[in-house]
Amino acid sequence: MARKTPNSKAVIPVVSEKSPNGGRIALPVGERRLSFGEKWSYAPAPEAHDYIQLKKRYQLFINGKFVAPHSGKYFPSINPATEETLAEIAEADAYDVDQAVKAARAAYKNVWSKMPGRERGKYLYRIARLIQEKARELAVLETMDGGKTIKESRDVDLPLVAAHFFYYAGWADKLQYAFPGRTPRPLGVAAQIIPWNFPLLMAAWKLAPALACGNTCVLKPAETTSITAMHLAEIFQQAELPDGVVNIVTGARTTGQALVDHEDINKIAFTGSTAVGKMLTQAVAGTKKKLTLELGGKAANIVFEDAPLDQAVEGIISGIFFNQGHVCCAGSRLLVQEGVFPQVIRKLRDRIATLRVGNPLDKNTDIGAINSRMQLDKICELVDSGLQQGAELVQPRLKLPEKGYWYPPSFFTGVTASHRIAQEEIFGPVLSVMTFRTPDEAIERANNTLYGLSAGIWTDKGSKIFKMASKLRAGVVWANTFNKFDPTSPFGGYKESGFGREGGQHGLLPYLELN
Ligand code: ADP
Repeated sequence: MARKTPNSKAVIPVVSEKSPNGGRIALPVGERRLSFGEKWSYAPAPEAHDYIQLKKRYQLFINGKFVAPHSGKYFPSINPATEETLAEIAEADAYDVDQAVKAARAAYKNVWSKMPGRERGKYLYRIARLIQEKARELAVLETMDGGKTIKESRDVDLPLVAAHFFYYAGWADKLQYAFPGRTPRPLGVAAQIIPWNFPLLMAAWKLAPALACGNTCVLKPAETTSITAMHLAEIFQQAELPDGVVNIVTGARTTGQALVDHEDINKIAFTGSTAVGKMLTQAVAGTKKKLTLELGGKAANIVFEDAPLDQAVEGIISGIFFNQGHVCCAGSRLLVQEGVFPQVIRKLRDRIATLRVGNPLDKNTDIGAINSRMQLDKICELVDSGLQQGAELVQPRLKLPEKGYWYPPSFFTGVTASHRIAQEEIFGPVLSVMTFRTPDEAIERANNTLYGLSAGIWTDKGSKIFKMASKLRAGVVWANTFNKFDPTSPFGGYKESGFGREGGQHGLLPYLELN
């Protein structure tokens, strides 16, 4: 059977096979599906983790001390690559949350808001240096608890975590220069709720600017990835951060709700799903609590005919597959100009067949484990919807590990804008490919989403980059690269991707009152 590519004269021959999802998969004719390791074989290169000292139980971090939860309840934290329980995590209830907020308030009034900026900065520098010293250990823990590859946690997450503390340490004594003619003042106690995709990095994005501005914090990590936050708490102790300046309460939705509903918080900073973000907006309506939200995304990577195609394909791959698609700014939609559609699809198909899925602690692994069974089910459900709505799935046949939660790198062709896979956040290694003819059509298609967090442009022409970037409704637009982060650069969304910026000088604003 030969199939016409959508909106194009080019023909890519395909055969159909049954997918693990039970649907039809499009495969290039004559191309046998490769099993893992068949094309490239690598000797295992596992990162050592025998020295990691996991606690049996992680307690709450309140007022500078580790304390047992009021309810006596704990929940397991699972290694998604092995399904083994790594540790038990304390479940904070409203009483614990109240203790944490009280500690934060006292620290704010008595210590932190009174301390000169240069002194606060010293603590932040100290924390940054301690993170650097322990970066390897923290990266291994991040990988064990969250399933992301050691390549990513070691080379991306941890360096950025330290860099955020260093960067905001530098602002702590220069706030009046950041906003000339204004008098910046801290807000008070910040409640910060973070997701599981970048556990330590999200903690750093939230804590570092808040502390630099003179606020105190109550942080709630995601229930599937709390372990590294508790190791960060140990670093706060070692840095002799005054008691109560940072408090960490672990738990799931009810813990988060208790924190959001607490009367004595001044600010809520949330990163997570759009559904919960909307609920938070309602919860703070009519209160004096300030709110910033960083929510979902459905980023479009736009590839023009004049783009360096190999570079673009590499950027597309790293923008969605190297992070298991677990990034709200992942380039999960690909818009390819018609003239290069066949080449891009061929390159993409060849490249995903070489990606290594498996043990995230192996330094050769490209795609780690899916964070939880729930997340894997969500991915499968959305992929099924894509097949049912008529899109075609390209997926190399990989031998996935028997235990753990895995999904092979996959992409859909024949996607239309109304398909759920083109509109909803899949949060997995699944790409939806569409075509366009003109730059205006690309802009229209890229903006045809409820979200607006990020986008990517691939072209040889600088003028095209500027024209496109100014018309794309996305908080971050990358050109000829993707998913690059820097603490000096603001990050945040439009529309249902949220509001407020994190990073850079802009990242100070959500934590300050400017008089
Ligand atoms: P994701 O889909 O990325 O897991 P969620 O929005 O469910 O995103 O979770 C992000 C964070 O928000 C987690 O720390 C989670 O425990 C917390 N959370 C979930 N529901 C609520 C809620 N109703 N109120 C406050 N926090 C919540």
